[in-house]
Amino acid sequence: MSRLITVSNRVGIPTTGAGRAGGLEAALREALEADGGIWFGWSGEVAETRSEAPAILKKGKVTFATVDLSRADYEDYYLGYANSTLWPLLHYQLGLIEFHRKQFRGYMSVNAYLAQMLAPLVEPDDLIWVHDYHLIPLAAELRKLGIKNRIGFFLHTPFPPTDIMVALPHHDMMMRALCAYDLVGLQTENGVRAFLDYIAREANGRLEFDGSLSAYDRLTRVVCFPIGIDTEGFAKSAVRAVRSVEAKRLKASIDQRLLIVGVDRMDYSKGVRTRFEVIDDLLSEWPEMAAKFTYLQITPPSRSDVVPYQTLRREVEHAAGHVNGKYSDIDWAPIRFVVKAVSRSALAGIYRSSRVGLVTPWRDGMNLVAKEYVASQDPDDPGVLVLSRFAGAAVELKTAILVNPLDPGEIGSAIHQALLMPVDERRERWQAMMEVLRANTIDDWTANFLKALKATRPLD
Ligand code: UDP
Repeated sequence: MSRLITVSNRVGIPTTGAGRAGGLEAALREALEADGGIWFGWSGEVAETRSEAPAILKKGKVTFATVDLSRADYEDYYLGYANSTLWPLLHYQLGLIEFHRKQFRGYMSVNAYLAQMLAPLVEPDDLIWVHDYHLIPLAAELRKLGIKNRIGFFLHTPFPPTDIMVALPHHDMMMRALCAYDLVGLQTENGVRAFLDYIAREANGRLEFDGSLSAYDRLTRVVCFPIGIDTEGFAKSAVRAVRSVEAKRLKASIDQRLLIVGVDRMDYSKGVRTRFEVIDDLLSEWPEMAAKFTYLQITPPSRSDVVPYQTLRREVEHAAGHVNGKYSDIDWAPIRFVVKAVSRSALAGIYRSSRVGLVTPWRDGMNLVAKEYVASQDPDDPGVLVLSRFAGAAVELKTAILVNPLDPGEIGSAIHQALLMPVDERRERWQAMMEVLRANTIDDWTANFLKALKATRPLD
């Protein structure tokens, strides 16, 4: 029986009392527990120097192996190349891309270092599953060290069209590195098409009859695996959470008004800034809606050491204040802006209490909040999802009200429609989405990826 090794930038070590693990974390841990395995990655600690060997923690059949990075690694690899170059590139934001050769070297160097730390832990039959854009070169680095195991990669972000990809200096190196994996998983068919287009146009590669991709002197597979959530688990947790003290407090505070909820990390890709403009447009177009709703936006800070994230925070705080200043009355303000993280179980209750789930990223690999919102609804009286057509989730959640996230007027009309939507139509739309979420859960996603990885041919 082959063991599984998962590798991600941060390792989901189980902690006591920190609340339920997220869907992905729980699913990966479950997959590791099935046949035993290792979860390897950065500890999240920035130390004076890199670790000389991984710190090992064993819990049941799972080994958690983590290494510390140095301050220079944190700046060049994490804040720099991963989050200031690759993240905006992968979200189509050419104007926000920073590129510094020093950071690129730092990124490559951390990947080479992680490969060196991981290689001694690998046994011949292990399956290796690497996650996300921080670790694109990891397979190539492991191959240099003689690792011949099957290695899969899943990109949680979008995969951009060729004309965007080629804007990245060294894009050829990144794509060659991706093709060192035996299997590359992407969130959408659109991403798969973009990948194949790049390979055909820029790398002179081709699709073989058996569906594998021949490029850079090797074969790889690029397949779409839309990530799911723990659909039933979320639904149950929402039923429980709605009876919690927090949910009752929230309900009392909104005083019969309809709740609109947005839940997004503070990130420019999420389109939070536009949403305050949306509320402004909505209230100027339909003044009779004043005091009929409360818009609760939950936005935990994120990557606050990166300059565009600091700028964004100032801008959204200003925008929320401006709209509240313009429309508030002594007993009502249109926007409640909460800049802190809320636990997943409390979120489930908040989703269920909300008539509208507002999810309007400019671009998003999937957007789990959209799926969680749907799973949390009361089947008899479900809320309405207003969803950006540029979130990966829009491919599956077709009966949401789909909007262009750049058009505040369109989003405003969608919210207006959602607030007034009769219950029959809400039920019909919700049922169609819920069927999709039941048919593709996070467990299905893990199982499908691992099955496809096992089916690839190992290197001789
Ligand atoms: N989340 C949370 N607390 C918060 C805000 C978000 O636990 O205050 C969770 C949310 O439930 C979801 C995840 O963070 O599971 C966000 O995933 P998504 O795909 O929507 O966006 P990402 O942040 O990964 O870009």
